[in-house]
Amino acid sequence: MKDLNIKNDWTVLELQNLYDLPFNDLLWKSHELHRKYHNPNEIQISTLMSIKTGGCPEDCKYCSQSIRYDTDINLEKTLPLIDIIKQAKDAKESGATRFCMGAAWRNLTQSNLKKVKEMVKEVKSLGLETCVTLGMLSDTQAQELKEVGLDYYNHNLDTSEEYYKKVVTTRTYQDRLDTLQHVRDAGVKVCSGGILGLGEGNIDRIKLIQVLANLNDHPESVPINRLVKVEGTPYFDNFEVDEFDFIRVIALARIAMPKSYVRLSAGRDTMNEQMQALCFFAGANSIFYGEELLTTKNSTIAHDRELLKKLKINTMRDSTDVDVDKKTKKLKDIPVSINNTQKPYA
Ligand code: SF4
Repeated sequence: MKDLNIKNDWTVLELQNLYDLPFNDLLWKSHELHRKYHNPNEIQISTLMSIKTGGCPEDCKYCSQSIRYDTDINLEKTLPLIDIIKQAKDAKESGATRFCMGAAWRNLTQSNLKKVKEMVKEVKSLGLETCVTLGMLSDTQAQELKEVGLDYYNHNLDTSEEYYKKVVTTRTYQDRLDTLQHVRDAGVKVCSGGILGLGEGNIDRIKLIQVLANLNDHPESVPINRLVKVEGTPYFDNFEVDEFDFIRVIALARIAMPKSYVRLSAGRDTMNEQMQALCFFAGANSIFYGEELLTTKNSTIAHDRELLKKLKINTMRDSTDVDVDKKTKKLKDIPVSINNTQKPYA
């Protein structure tokens, strides 16, 4: 029987009406769905390692890795396979179950594809789930990545189609959608979301959720980022996103895509505990764990543990295994800050 909560024909008006509900009514609705499809007291832990940092030719106005802006990023070449395998092994040894790799590329060249395929194969052979974020992909590249064992591909839409033109001029919204389609067609799981704080209006946030929720299949993972203002980028002086607006977007994502993981991503360290708790209540059930996200700070692991303890929220089954040493039954050091060059918006 068709699940009426899962739909792909959201209108802007429907979403706007939800967004404009009194705050408590909106959260009640989103939490009800959250409870129906997920354990409200469990969250998923996500991690990301940069395999190639900086020097990106794109002009995303929020990004410290664009070659067009004078930021503190140290350019790095693609890491050698041996380093990636070592880090993946270390991560696995410490209990990680998924290994994500990100590169600051506009699109995947054939020579880089060859390298990434080796990385995915090797990481997969360690018994880890694999995830990559590498820029635009063709259909055949997506298929080739699937064939070597890729599980997830991250590619954010960032904002509404209308506002996107002000944020990035070196590629189009349609380019993004095409890549998402190639990923989906290849049978790889989709991770796609946006960033709040780019100077967009609430209508752009609502339209972003509409586009994601009206994809034929909802993305398995929907990261919602809060702009991390990096000195040297054009958005360094942007206004802060209103906390309640941010929580409303989380709630809207939960209602529009009830089964997806909604990830509280970059910018979490700028949110106090109460705001994070409200985001979890509104429907967020995934976070990045790790002390740094590229050049910006993330919430510390100790702080995260303390917060999750206070809220009595557990990490999901796989991640619980990461946290607890089977012999001693004590919390282990979590290996998720794989290096300090994580890409912030994923
Ligand atoms: S967000 Fe991605 S594509 Fe845009 S400049 Fe940064 S690394 Fe490049």
